[in-house]
Amino acid sequence: MICVSLGRTRHKMVLAEHQALAERGAKLVELRLDWLSRVPDLGRLLVDRPTPVIVTCRRPRDKGLWRFTEEQRQTLLRSAIVAGADYVDLEEDIATDIRRYGPTKRIISYHNFDETPADIADIHARLAKLDADIVKIVTMANSPADNVRMLQLVRGAASLTVGFCMGEFGLPSRILTGRYGAPFTYATFHRERQMAPGQPTFDEMRDVYRYDQINEETEVFGVVADPVAHSYSPLIHNAALAHLGLNAVYLPFRVPEGTLAETIREFDALAVKGYSVTLPHKEAVVELADERDKAVDEIGAANTLYRNDRGTWSAANTDHDAALSSLVEALSAESPDKPAEAAHPLAGKKVLLLGAGGVARAIGHGVVRHGGILMVTNRTKARAAELAEQFGCVLVQWENRGAQFADVLINCTSVGMHPGVDETPFVANWLREGMIVFDTVYNPERTLLIKQARERGCRTVTGVEMFVRQAARQFELFTGQPAPQDVMRDTLRQAISPARSS
Ligand code: NAP
Repeated sequence: MICVSLGRTRHKMVLAEHQALAERGAKLVELRLDWLSRVPDLGRLLVDRPTPVIVTCRRPRDKGLWRFTEEQRQTLLRSAIVAGADYVDLEEDIATDIRRYGPTKRIISYHNFDETPADIADIHARLAKLDADIVKIVTMANSPADNVRMLQLVRGAASLTVGFCMGEFGLPSRILTGRYGAPFTYATFHRERQMAPGQPTFDEMRDVYRYDQINEETEVFGVVADPVAHSYSPLIHNAALAHLGLNAVYLPFRVPEGTLAETIREFDALAVKGYSVTLPHKEAVVELADERDKAVDEIGAANTLYRNDRGTWSAANTDHDAALSSLVEALSAESPDKPAEAAHPLAGKKVLLLGAGGVARAIGHGVVRHGGILMVTNRTKARAAELAEQFGCVLVQWENRGAQFADVLINCTSVGMHPGVDETPFVANWLREGMIVFDTVYNPERTLLIKQARERGCRTVTGVEMFVRQAARQFELFTGQPAPQDVMRDTLRQAISPARSS
């Protein structure tokens, strides 16, 4: 069950939002009385309540907004119990001062906004002794491993326990806590009114992560990155899992550079079955795999780590496959009557690659392998020179990139990406009709480069196509099922910047 935290300064707004939440299917609402600017009127808030409620009233020292006296606060909590609130949230230090009465259930809570302390099990034991119906323990995660410690605590607890971590590191524990036995997790009504750091919205929890369907059998996948909050992978993978009705969830894992190996070992406790891997881990992940695709070995980078049939880790580079297949489709559309046994569509094509980062390396590798004539250029010359040496291809000065004749132009820089949507790495009058222009940037889909290329009569391939294909291939490696690519594409298009349609 998802408990939605509701905090507003006016009673009228609390009542209206509580009603709206009930109509949207919320089954439990936390009324954060400390948010109200006037002394709370419990009668108004509890009579005819449209869902069961948890009454909570936090002091400023617990990061709450209560502006009246502590005596008034405790009187209010006692009154909530007398009025028959379904649950009341009591901090550890006041739990013995506020007695059990009637059917109201007692949540005895501990919050730590700085860390997940080493002694969470001792803290839990202390709380459980305070006549608790539910122990609530919420701490700040400062590392991926804090999620694991917290979820193990929830699983091993003798009493009913809601336990999860806050912050970007802690999101997996909020989503998985039910899998380990927590009776509910918390979400916010609205992104702009988070009650705690990293709290997802009700809609995200319910519709993206399908929290209420997560159980002990639910398989776990996710993306490892730092930062990770901006990633669209959870959105599109979860949409695909939901579309096929699979009992699986895909999570964002924030993993700092240099900590991938230890995190993956720690996450064995969560039985994670597959990872999408992105910056800054694409190279580090190669060493962690027991088996690797040929392309991974050749490129030295992977974007996928998954449990193979033997239960060991395999690494794949689906960026490479996705970019190549998108390009091949565009090239094949140029000469649809070409016999299947003819040379690879890239063979003999002059390809100008802008950029020298991880994506450029993956795509450049594929171009060379299939007989394309590769030219690389990059703002920082040394990186382009290194790539040119690796591929044995032509190095073009960044300043001269417009003067090259190319059949195919591929942008592997981040230029044109949201919010820099008015920028392009290749000005319009360098483009010529008939050229294939592939922009790997996917947010927005219609970058300035793509728009100008279309105006000039070029054939275009967008980063959305590549992004969807690399995710679809990952999905297939993770689940063994064909990916619903249309669902993934539609979900991504709805989520990315509106600039795509301008
Ligand atoms: P990366 O390793 O950080 O490389 C970034 C590249 O962009 C470098 O070549 C960098 O040049 C260049 N660059 C950055 N700002 C620039 C500027 N103002 N002017 C000129 N060049 C600039 O990143 P990556 O992983 O290769 O990703 C590159 C892009 O690919 C991303 O921005 C993303 O949009 C896209 N991408 C797409 C997909 C997809 O599935 N569609 C997947 C992953 C990435 P310097 O060396 O001079 O810094």
